Amino acid sequence: MAVSGGEGPTVVLVGRPNVGKSTLFNKITGTRRSIVAPVAGTTRDVIDQPADWRGRAFTVVDTGGMFGATTDPLHDLVVEQGRKAITAADVLVFVVDGREGLVPADEEIARALREAGAPVVLAVNKTDDRRSRHGAAEFYRFGFDPVVEIAAEHGTGVGDLLDEILKFFPVEFSRLTAGEEQKEDTGKSEPTSVSVAIVGRPNAGKSSLLNRLLNEERVMVSDLPGTTRDAIDVELTWHGKRFVLVDTAGIRKAGKVHKGGQVENVAVVIAKRAIARADVVVLVIDASQGAADQDGAIAGEAERTGSSIVIVANKWDLMKGRGPEFVKQFDEQLRRELKFLDYAPVLHVSAMTGERASKVLETVDRVAQARTRRVSTGELNRFIKRITEAHPPVAPGTRGEVRVMYAVQADTAPPTFVLFTNQATKFHFSYERFIVNQLREAFGFEGTPIRVQVRKSE
Ligand code: GDP
Ligand code: GDP
Repeated sequence: MAVSGGEGPTVVLVGRPNVGKSTLFNKITGTRRSIVAPVAGTTRDVIDQPADWRGRAFTVVDTGGMFGATTDPLHDLVVEQGRKAITAADVLVFVVDGREGLVPADEEIARALREAGAPVVLAVNKTDDRRSRHGAAEFYRFGFDPVVEIAAEHGTGVGDLLDEILKFFPVEFSRLTAGEEQKEDTGKSEPTSVSVAIVGRPNAGKSSLLNRLLNEERVMVSDLPGTTRDAIDVELTWHGKRFVLVDTAGIRKAGKVHKGGQVENVAVVIAKRAIARADVVVLVIDASQGAADQDGAIAGEAERTGSSIVIVANKWDLMKGRGPEFVKQFDEQLRRELKFLDYAPVLHVSAMTGERASKVLETVDRVAQARTRRVSTGELNRFIKRITEAHPPVAPGTRGEVRVMYAVQADTAPPTFVLFTNQATKFHFSYERFIVNQLREAFGFEGTPIRVQVRKSE
């Protein structure tokens, strides 16, 4: 019954009695060792058990009834063991009951976990039950990040929960392949590879750019077997970073067909398919022609799916010698034509001569990192307080003052922020845009769309 130093990182489940810790423990470990006790306050020992997920071994600890009120003489012992487990945790999983909602005892546990120092993943359980319709919303108040909705009994969401837990595991150095950067563990794992879609109109120079990238110095290329011959992905490594160029067969094919209405449509279909799979979209435009409606449609699609965008103004060799004023005007016009894309970097490139082509991967890498950036809850709330006090929310159709009580970054890639307000409301379009612009200015987020959601604070 003692908590042994099991294999790998230690994941500790904490929560009130009856929230579903043992059910979750059993799901994760695939055992029935932990006893599911339907009676609140039943003392259960602290137990541990090995588990693995996506090839990583770890140890799960269930802190049992440590937070239950009981007169059981064994309770002190359980509490003591639980404390030790929490102190030793690599990742803490705070299990709460979505059906019952937030109760005062949860606040007490939240405080203890904040002090523990290890990263906390909040698991809102029993979301299969109709009564938990409000889901995770009210638990965001704790400021733990991420929040995952699960139904342990049915296994729903448990895989997502484990994925989130895994992100906090220390990097396994033995797994890093040669050439990959030996990054210090920052507590967050980087995505293993960045998927990139090269899109644009026929003849913009996509295939030329693709070939340029594949032949660049320091780039190592390997074809990934595609599911169909039409969708061959190419993986390349550059400065120890991995990129997967998606659907390159589509590029080559569309590059060969000629102009005309029918073909343009095919190109859009191919672009959409690639965008759906991409972290970063490289929109190639023929600089001598400027952006067309179709480029706007492609850009809009990337915005909709939450992909980041880098604009490549290709064939820049044809535009040379026109002076810096021209470059400025060119960029301004391009941004006007692609209305949504004020946040996307523009590169002036010649796929033919290779000029500035090396900037493409460099920028894709930078933009890929920006989209996974997390703003700490403390920093975010100081920022939100400052700007919403200086510029109170504009929300049509609401009575009385709309105040933002607190905010969380609910997700990355694309960065997603939830603002909790004192009353149910929707921000005016222009106010939402104001918030997005302020977030971008304060925290970077180059090249990525930013999502803002508004919810009533319970
Ligand atoms: P613990 O005291 O935190 O370890 O909680 P248990 O795992 O013993 O679960 C308490 C009760 O909640 C049991 O009756 C479980 O069947 C039930 N329960 C656990 N997970 C779920 C779930 O995902 N959905 C529903 N509806 N009930 C659950
Ligand atoms: P795709 O249809 O978008 O794949 O375009 P291609 O890569 O097939 O290029 C279309 C045409 O533009 C070809 O004739 C290329 O030689 C030409 N082209 C591509 N990149 C450049 C460039 O940087 N400068 C110039 N002048 N021509 C280019």
